[in-house]
Amino acid sequence: MNVKNLEIGKILENKFHTKILLRNDAQCAALAEKKIGSIKKFDDAIFLTLGTGIGGAVFMSGKMLVSKKKNDFEIGHMVIDLNGEKCSCGRCGCFETLASMKKLKADIINKLNLDSQVTGKDIRELLENKEIYDLVEDIINKYIYNLSIGLENLINIFKPEAISIGGSFTHYKKFLLGKLRDELKAKDAIFIKNDLPKIVLATLKNEAGIIGATIENL
Ligand SMILES: [Zn+2]
Repeated sequence: MNVKNLEIGKILENKFHTKILLRNDAQCAALAEKKIGSIKKFDDAIFLTLGTGIGGAVFMSGKMLVSKKKNDFEIGHMVIDLNGEKCSCGRCGCFETLASMKKLKADIINKLNLDSQVTGKDIRELLENKEIYDLVEDIINKYIYNLSIGLENLINIFKPEAISIGGSFTHYKKFLLGKLRDELKAKDAIFIKNDLPKIVLATLKNEAGIIGATIENL
């Protein structure tokens, strides 16, 4: 269900009689990964969470970029294919319509004719079977291609030292991470001008958001 203009902070303040501050969940996870996790060592870094959508945050010179007006950036709604599928935001070919884990899972479910309620764990177990994996390898390659386009855009704009990826992508690292690194390496000289950042996985898992909610901006 889409909810608009609901003042959840005020509702919670009235209920619990304490000050409630709201922050974007991807930003919370990013702060935790920056303070104690996968991008701790890097001043210039990007954190992305790939799950049902794509969220994230950018750190420059050790500080998370925030605007005065609104405290989150819609990285997931960067268009990477003008002719792509329509997104919930109304535009077509957004990064998250093509490179979220939801998209990858939906394509695999469709190709293998699986029940739409199949779990991520079940899908990963199926991919362990070489014959099944071969059936969906094109889908995985296409997914990595789309993901790399979005990452190349971010790399060219921000020139990060590292990009950390969290969300359910991490559960599929065996099938995705090596391919992603290879794809970016292949394009490094052409699109990224030999400025490839380290591609790392988030380390704090589901705890990241809760840890990050307690951290002030760095
Ligand atoms: Zn969109």
